Amino acid sequence: MILDGNVISISKMDYIKKEIDSIKNTHGIEPELKLIQVGNDSASTIYANAKIKRGKKLGINVTLDKYDAIDERGLASIIKKHSENVNIHGIMIESPLPYNIDYNKIIRNVPYYKDTDGLNPYNLGNLDLRNESIAPATARAVIDILEYYGFMDGNVCIINRSAVVGRPLSMMLLNRNYTVTLCHSKTPNIQEISVRSNVIVVAVGKKNFLNEKYITDKSIVVDVGINYENNHIYGDADFDGINKIVKAITPVPGGVGPVTATDIFHNFLNGLKIQLEPEFR
Ligand code: NAP
Repeated sequence: MILDGNVISISKMDYIKKEIDSIKNTHGIEPELKLIQVGNDSASTIYANAKIKRGKKLGINVTLDKYDAIDERGLASIIKKHSENVNIHGIMIESPLPYNIDYNKIIRNVPYYKDTDGLNPYNLGNLDLRNESIAPATARAVIDILEYYGFMDGNVCIINRSAVVGRPLSMMLLNRNYTVTLCHSKTPNIQEISVRSNVIVVAVGKKNFLNEKYITDKSIVVDVGINYENNHIYGDADFDGINKIVKAITPVPGGVGPVTATDIFHNFLNGLKIQLEPEFR
């Protein structure tokens, strides 16, 4: 079974658009998401333009400010200006940042209700308290896929412990009664853990990492990985080698990616609601 992320993305886009339309009608505002890019990384520009395009479909004005050279203090003061601007409802700092700027430090300057990435410590901490109003989009996308296809509980093996994927996802799965094992590069015998798990989430950034040794015919594989090779995009799973064996698998492209791209705007919407209607807090 192929777990189609595009179907989920389309249905969530529809939901978000309706909510944004209704907010515009009720409050008479033009929602705006501010992207901040430092440097000229070409992949970063592609991702930013994709957000601008998606925002247009949703009726959200996504604007991009680019800076060539700036230090942490300078970036913090730009963020402060946007934070205080009531006409800007979300702020995203595009990666990669140059070596002289620490993302984990700078994100603290973004108020939690404008933190569209969901990576402000306040929003990450809220996940522990079962408040997932604003959550890292990739983690939410994995949850959306499992819920959409009705895989509601069981054992999950996550191969990734980053702040963007593994850590928030483990908490969100725990909140839904999954039993979670978080694996990383120092975990011995991951294959022994993954074959005992109902769901395997892989996000290591290595093409063909997840092969037939990690899976059984009962495995549900969610492939978060993105690897570029010869103008092609690949996940971390050896899709051709395992898709006929496993119970279900997300393809790359067309799996986690489109849901993540939409879930960014799920965060934006929830942050906007907090700003307009504090009862959503
Ligand atoms: P990251 O910070 O580099 O994390 C990679 C994780 O994989 C780390 O926890 C690392 O372990 C683990 N790992 C690496 N090699 C391993 C191995 N041989 N065995 C077991 N674990 C191993 O990267 P990230 O930002 O989380 O992203 C991970 C992947 O997801 C990348 O391919 C990225 O492009 C993709 N991604 C996709 C989306 C999407 O929307 N589809 C969104 C975000 C990221 P250690 O902690 O021990 O180093």
